[in-house]
Amino acid sequence: MIPRKKTRQVRVGSVPIGGLAPISIQSMTSTYTRDVDATVAQIRCLAEAGCDLVRVAVPEKSDTAALPGILDQSPVPIIADVHYHFERALEAVEAGVHKIRLNPGNIRDRKQVDRVIAACRERGVPIRVGVNEGSVVERADHDRRAAQKAGIQTDPRSELIRLMVQTVEDYMRIFDENNFHDVVLAAKSIDAGYVIDAYRALSERFDLPLHLGVTHAGPPETGRIRSIAALGSLLAMGIGDTIRISYAADPIHEVEDAKELLCSLGLRNRLEPELIACPTCGRIEIDLIKLVAEVRQKLATIKTPVKVAVMGCVVNGPGEAEGADVAVFAGKGRGIIYVQGKQTRTVSEAEMLDALYDETLAFSKRVESGEVVLTGRDVTITPPDPLPRKDGSIPLNVQP
Ligand code: SF4
Repeated sequence: MIPRKKTRQVRVGSVPIGGLAPISIQSMTSTYTRDVDATVAQIRCLAEAGCDLVRVAVPEKSDTAALPGILDQSPVPIIADVHYHFERALEAVEAGVHKIRLNPGNIRDRKQVDRVIAACRERGVPIRVGVNEGSVVERADHDRRAAQKAGIQTDPRSELIRLMVQTVEDYMRIFDENNFHDVVLAAKSIDAGYVIDAYRALSERFDLPLHLGVTHAGPPETGRIRSIAALGSLLAMGIGDTIRISYAADPIHEVEDAKELLCSLGLRNRLEPELIACPTCGRIEIDLIKLVAEVRQKLATIKTPVKVAVMGCVVNGPGEAEGADVAVFAGKGRGIIYVQGKQTRTVSEAEMLDALYDETLAFSKRVESGEVVLTGRDVTITPPDPLPRKDGSIPLNVQP
């Protein structure tokens, strides 16, 4: 991991972005913003799942008119996503939103941008300049468009990245001339590799905070991987101040994925149990995949970052589960449970789920009361003796 680049900090309501502030998680509502109740309900769900900032679309005047009602009830700062109509930006700022997103590809008129900047300055509202791959190619000037298209055909990667970065640079000149620096930058593509290169270029050129994201990433199965590939790579290079994972599904899953990404990279502290599980192999003797799914569901009620391991055997399981606060090692029809490296009990396969949950709950209560502490990677697990089968033979290819 490369140490994070310290960028200029901007404040979005109560949430700082950049300047080494914790990397914030963003998402976007999928409701019509003018439907205040539905929008507030979704914002609350996203916030509950760990989302720090929520963006809402404001294509119509009725959407910006709904913003005061939403802002009154939102537990997190709200960002208005503005395209084409600069008036929506002015209305949103007037309504009290905490940040505006402008797309340089569709709000280009200098006077309009100046007016939005002036309104944001007056209210202390930062602006995200968010370029998308799909809106950087010239539309009005036919000669320029033809030249850009020809460039893209010859070398799509270089030309599109060049266009995205140049669009940001050109737009930023307006902000510089207005002496307005409360800006967050983004340059999104559907291609994870392009995203990595575009953000690396932005990070070299600007000290402004960066909002990382892959645009139109597709269905969850592929969109999630594209997003994690791009955002994970950039974060590991020390680039990125706020992230949005996006794909075609309920946005709550974006937030869960973003949280897991940041926790996996050690960029956010876990607040809930961490579940580790073996991938299973030819030594497995229980239905571990089903058990893991059930354990995951049950652990959702526990709010302590206990590390729980569900391992399929006693051969490699203990070594692979080193560091787990609570662990179960399964053999044929039985499981041995460990708490912080000590064997506590052996249970049948039918009892395994409840026993593991009970031990985890009891352990988390002891952590909360201060009786024990989480020791991170320091838990040592000594392999249990192989579990005897009913017929007395030793399972799992382990010799006594
Ligand atoms: S813990 Fe055991 S069953 Fe699971 S993958 Fe490792 S060796 Fe295979």
